[in-house]
Amino acid sequence: MVPAGRVHYFLDQRVRKENSMKNKPDTNSLCQIYAEAEHEKVVSWSDPVSDYRGVIAIHSTALGPAVGGTRIWKYASDEAATFDALRLSRAMSYKSALAGLPFGGGKAIIVGNDSVIDREKIFRTHGRFIDSLAGRFITAQDVGTDPDDMEYVRMETPYVAGLRTGAGDPSPMTAYGVFRALQASAIHRWHSLDLTKRTIAIQGCGKTGYLLAKMLYEAGAKLLVSDIDAAKVKNVVDDFGATAVAPEQILGVQADILPPCALGGVINDETIPELKVKIVVGSANNQLLEDRHGDELHDIGIMYVPDYLANAGGIIGGCQELLDWSRQEAKQRVHRIYDTLLSILESAGSGTPPFRVANQFAERKLLDHKARPTASEGLSKKYFSNDQLNYRPTVPNQPASTNEHLTRPDIRSIPFKSRDNK
Ligand code: NAD
Repeated sequence: MVPAGRVHYFLDQRVRKENSMKNKPDTNSLCQIYAEAEHEKVVSWSDPVSDYRGVIAIHSTALGPAVGGTRIWKYASDEAATFDALRLSRAMSYKSALAGLPFGGGKAIIVGNDSVIDREKIFRTHGRFIDSLAGRFITAQDVGTDPDDMEYVRMETPYVAGLRTGAGDPSPMTAYGVFRALQASAIHRWHSLDLTKRTIAIQGCGKTGYLLAKMLYEAGAKLLVSDIDAAKVKNVVDDFGATAVAPEQILGVQADILPPCALGGVINDETIPELKVKIVVGSANNQLLEDRHGDELHDIGIMYVPDYLANAGGIIGGCQELLDWSRQEAKQRVHRIYDTLLSILESAGSGTPPFRVANQFAERKLLDHKARPTASEGLSKKYFSNDQLNYRPTVPNQPASTNEHLTRPDIRSIPFKSRDNK
């Protein structure tokens, strides 16, 4: 097995290069990435009739069917979309594993501009793509998609949550989970839950940023807030007495805690020297541009809380729809993010970055499962038929029209690019 740290580094390198649009990987590189990433399955699908291009990455179904949102975005290339899917699906596996959910991790990406597409055509095609995976992957809304899109997906497959009639907007549960993670990190750092003397700088005043600001305001914290959308900043300033900060300044302000609630990749070579906070904990996915940036934060005394742990409230809330949990049960589980984080912080001690310990916990859970459960064990009987509930993900079901980049070629035959061999 390739050491996880190397895998992360390699993927992150590729994503960074893609993001800067200076590099286009060749096919060999893609194969190498699939192998080193150890994803179970990565499938792409195109349909010229509906002008659809999509990719689904399934990192793991060891603990149950892979669950992950469908994101629509204008990627520079299909490869860039694939790299994003790989990173995000791995984080979903870790998220479910640490939250104790019977799910694996996956992610779907549709390459396109969500403001100009024919939504019914695109999302019905997407639904057929998901259906071809026969329950190995269950999706929901994500960046650029909403419950109406999921209703179109539902016309073609049952393997979708986040419907208009379902658990609703995941943001309140996500924000509550971030708040609990912030409390745990504060008590670990300062031995006090009192936030009245703390200054908290929130990047992003959207759905999760706004709700987090509300909870922090109620807890008496002083708030500095920023968004590229002036109207969203104004809402938080007016409603919670926050002070507005320019978007280009928020990462360098003097504060105690930074919750990134906007974008991924905000912790990077350029921003780390600017940071003046003691804790980074927020809702954004993939906050570290590369894993080494988490190590660097640790080295300079900044506690970085793994994003997939802090923002797990959304998927936990989704269990109301997927597993028929009551709202109370879901909220109770989100509440416990506090305990999970505290045990990780205690295990990490001062020597190891907590995100490394969290990665190890999650990886161990994936490896330790004794027998692969029925993929859909425990799934809501309200949403899934008996046939679907009995589905077992043992043999890949390969639809003729997909272009499947399979999974686990013999990695010994592929030269490994080590961390020291850039
Ligand atoms: P959102 O779109 O409602 O809010 C994001 C906000 O960030 C927007 O208001 C946007 O204008 C702002 N923004 C963008 N670039 C910025 C910049 N450079 N500086 C400051 N603000 C900027 O999204 P959300 O639902 O609040 O999600 C925020 C993050 O959390 C995303 O990364 C998302 O993937 C992640 N997340 C969200 C949920 C959820 O339940 N909503 C769950 C898990 C993870």
